[in-house]
Amino acid sequence: MGRILILPTTVSDQIAAGEVVERPGSVVKEAVENALDAGATAVTVELEDGGRELIRVSDDGAGMDADDALLAVQRHATSKIRSTTDLIGVATYGFRGEALASIASVSHFELETAFGEPAGAGTRVAVRGGKLVDTGPIARTHGTTITVRNLFANVPARRKFLRAARSETRAAVEAVTVLALARLDVAFTLVSDGRTLIDAPRTGEAGERIASLFGGTLASQLVPVEHHEGYLTVRGFVQRPADARPAGRKAHLFVNGRPFRDPLLVRSAEAGYRATLPAGVRPSLFLTLSVPGDRVDVNVHPAKLEVRFRDRYVVERAVEAAVRSALGTSGAAAGASSQPWGHVGGGAFVGGEQGLPWDGEGGLFAEQGATVSGVPLQLIQVFATFIVFETPEGLTIVDQHSAHERVIYERTMAQLHSGGIGGQRLLLPLTLDLGREELDAVEQHGELLVRIGFEIEPFGGSSVVVHAVPNPHPRFDARRCLEELVTDLAKDRFGAVPNRMERFAATYGCRAAVKAGQVLDVSEMRALLQQLFSCQLPPHDVHGRPTIVQLPRLELERRFGRA
Ligand code: ADP
Ligand code: MG
Repeated sequence: MGRILILPTTVSDQIAAGEVVERPGSVVKEAVENALDAGATAVTVELEDGGRELIRVSDDGAGMDADDALLAVQRHATSKIRSTTDLIGVATYGFRGEALASIASVSHFELETAFGEPAGAGTRVAVRGGKLVDTGPIARTHGTTITVRNLFANVPARRKFLRAARSETRAAVEAVTVLALARLDVAFTLVSDGRTLIDAPRTGEAGERIASLFGGTLASQLVPVEHHEGYLTVRGFVQRPADARPAGRKAHLFVNGRPFRDPLLVRSAEAGYRATLPAGVRPSLFLTLSVPGDRVDVNVHPAKLEVRFRDRYVVERAVEAAVRSALGTSGAAAGASSQPWGHVGGGAFVGGEQGLPWDGEGGLFAEQGATVSGVPLQLIQVFATFIVFETPEGLTIVDQHSAHERVIYERTMAQLHSGGIGGQRLLLPLTLDLGREELDAVEQHGELLVRIGFEIEPFGGSSVVVHAVPNPHPRFDARRCLEELVTDLAKDRFGAVPNRMERFAATYGCRAAVKAGQVLDVSEMRALLQQLFSCQLPPHDVHGRPTIVQLPRLELERRFGRA
């Protein structure tokens, strides 16, 4: 019948190109990856009209000789692997040998390249819609420039789907940004219609690179992450909970230097923030995983955007633990400096990773009457709400209610998991009159209430009798706490917290903690700080607000003109 035909390569190339080249940003991504694979130390990207008119990527990498330049634009032409076993732990970004052929099949494509010596002897290759139209020698220094004009000129369906120049430009900027985060040792520039949108010089500091890509504010809000677990290492930066916002977050993952997308792994990282973020807020994350090459498969996506881990669960758990332990450090506390007093907390953090007391060796709060560097530890309560004290680095302010909430929350979680503790039996049982919804809440949470020490019995109609209550601290008002607790539970106050036990513990923590306005004596303040600093996540309360704000000494000195 002759109904089946082998497609001419120009057609099959265009079909395959659809997978690799979706939009100008994908051309930019592939070309920049090639530049990095060629050992470039500087990469420049130029765009006109969002890449519709022109995309040009230049590098100072190794370049190609005339033979390779001609081969490079052929499908399945690669210098990076020779056999499938080379795929295991492949260290180059490219390995599929498709990008240049794909791009050249759907555009007016030009490659100019020069390889080693003699300087000045280069090659030009021009391809239109997959057909070689011109080649010959040119003069240039080592390195490569590819120029792509009229992208999708011969694929009108694709060209029609391109978005407004601004959004195509944004996608290209994103592609370069991702690679710029992966390779600090390379300088990146992106110019769009004459405007410089990325200018990232080479650096040894991730923070500096983040600052050149996203601005200094985000860079100053990050806490370093470093976590080892078996063969796996997780490094990077995560945003302080108090600085996270509902919109505009950046989440970037890398494995062995290769960027990849993985929304579920981002979720694992967010799980590390558990109980420190208000609902709807998304923190920025930059996490780099190092794993042995045979533990990750990088060839699972045509545009290499995804990877597959062998031990997915191990990776998820390590990422969560890494974030969690980073947030437990002093650097995760909110900073006060460069903000007017009154607005402390949410703002820029100056003062970096200087230690809070729990960073000190042996733990400054290990015993009563502890001192900081030989100076008696003075504690002052101000506004019956905040505890203020001095550390070698500056002035530290703790919100007594938030801090206590954190303490009780963590303790409650431990009690709930361990099966509970007994409460204190009351000589005179309490009788509470509750509404129908509150009664339902008591019934629904009966088991959890028992585990934290409440013994509650229905008492006909709408009343309950309370025979035993927990005793989290001497000023605990059991009746008031229980009334507020069941009201909150009935209203599902912490509804955004997904886990039922955590929701319960957060509600109880909030209601059982000392309130703002409660006068505390020095020994109570000291005990509270001791407990706070032995928590897993001292710097944050269960609403995602800071428990601690620091005013660095340097900042004080600066304000008084002493610096
Ligand atoms: P891959 O990167 O998967 O090998 P490409 O189609 O992207 O496939 O590139 C084909 C080959 O062309 C590469 O393997 C490399 O040898 C060469 N090449 C492409 N771009 C450059 C460049 N900027 N500098 C040097 N060589 C390059
Ligand atoms: Mg490539």
